[in-house]
Amino acid sequence: MESTFTLPCVVCGAELEPAFNNPMANAEPNQPHGGTTFFTNGHYGSTVFDQMDRTELQINLCDPCLLKAAEAGRVLHFAPPRPSPPRAAVLWAPDGSGALG
Ligand SMILES: [Zn+2]
Repeated sequence: MESTFTLPCVVCGAELEPAFNNPMANAEPNQPHGGTTFFTNGHYGSTVFDQMDRTELQINLCDPCLLKAAEAGRVLHFAPPRPSPPRAAVLWAPDGSGALG
């Protein structure tokens, strides 16, 4: 695979140019300009890809297809994960009199 290789859009087949033209500056070989890239390692329920061996598939989606899908209500947008709050800690009291709660 060439260092500037980009996959076409998985929906419409549009060719996507690499986001970086300098292969030395491009750590990700499939970084499309005008599109996004998605990885999956499979899902329970898929009848075609659920390898459970940590291998992944990658697809590209052009921006126009992403916008059409969003307008049709087929895209979820997630908030960033919240950091875990610090855990409360008290000295352990074997008789259960500790105030942890
Ligand atoms: Zn497309």
